[in-house]
Amino acid sequence: MIDFFSDTKTKPTAGMRAAIAAAEVGDEQKGEDPTTTALCERVADLLGKESAVFLPSGTMCNEIALNVHCRPGDEVICEAGCHIINYEAGGPAALSGVMLLALEGDRGRFSAAQVRDAYRPPGRYSPASRLVCVEQTANLAGGAVWPVERLNAVAEVARAHGLATHMDGARLMNAVVATGVPARQHTAGYDSCWLDFSKGLGAPVGAVLAGDRDFIDQAWRRKQAWGGAMRQSGILAAACLYALDHHIDRLADDHRVAAYIAGRLREMDGVVHVTEAETNIVFFDVDTDRITAPELEEKLEARGIQIGAFTRERIRVVTHLDVDQAMAEQMCDALAEGLQG
Ligand SMILES: *Cc1c(COP(=O)(O)O)cnc(C)c1O
Repeated sequence: MIDFFSDTKTKPTAGMRAAIAAAEVGDEQKGEDPTTTALCERVADLLGKESAVFLPSGTMCNEIALNVHCRPGDEVICEAGCHIINYEAGGPAALSGVMLLALEGDRGRFSAAQVRDAYRPPGRYSPASRLVCVEQTANLAGGAVWPVERLNAVAEVARAHGLATHMDGARLMNAVVATGVPARQHTAGYDSCWLDFSKGLGAPVGAVLAGDRDFIDQAWRRKQAWGGAMRQSGILAAACLYALDHHIDRLADDHRVAAYIAGRLREMDGVVHVTEAETNIVFFDVDTDRITAPELEEKLEARGIQIGAFTRERIRVVTHLDVDQAMAEQMCDALAEGLQG
């Protein structure tokens, strides 16, 4: 199967498996796993924060951050397409009792003025505005990159209103490679932030949440309470360290292949809209008078190619470690034929 469904589909390479096999391990809950400790120190430094904690998933990073920053009844300002609203099983309501205010951004990115307008002054009637969340890159917007100036402007308005700030950095390294701006400059205005290792970085499991020492102490209590504390997690952390050493620069290849796919799609009969390929994600809409997205998905599947139909008209393709230019050409040829009916 040639799999363009998601960058979560990557499998550990031989080099990564060797690093996993060689990992020194200990009891992570007790702070005795040297490989996990090394990973946390490395990510804290990369993101310009005091401290960091290793977690099983990016979802847990978001949910723990919401729980540390907010109290029940508080309001979180975020974007309508964000992962926190759409893909965390209602966790913010169930686990933290927070309200989510969904701003309509431009490709997943809202402005400082929108935050200023959304802020609710303290009073008897309204929920208390508490936290602003951004997603770098914005997945449902097609991997759109928040410019660092915009991130800083949003963080500045948040701080001026006494709001905490959080960055969902599931694909932050894609933004770093696309812009050439170091990660710590993206995260500078944000109280908490995290990196996912199981997306384009190609590790099987793991995410690292970073912040100041007090934030991470509090995050650790949630990690323990919610069952995310681990034992010999060094075998997972070793894969993440390997990814930091070997899988960052190559994200540029994924971006090049995504740009090729977007270019091909724009020329295709039956494709009515294609998102700009800023990083490794492309969304496109098909003319449903001709074929629906699920029908096209099925046609490609029959040829051993996986793509992601999101709605009746919308399809997502994602480039990653386990697909290349030749596979992209094969997929585009299959799409063009499929659209012919
Ligand atoms: C995948 C993803 C998450 C969740 O990460 P998991 O490791 O799959 O739990 C959060 N935010 C964004 C933007 C994502 O793409």
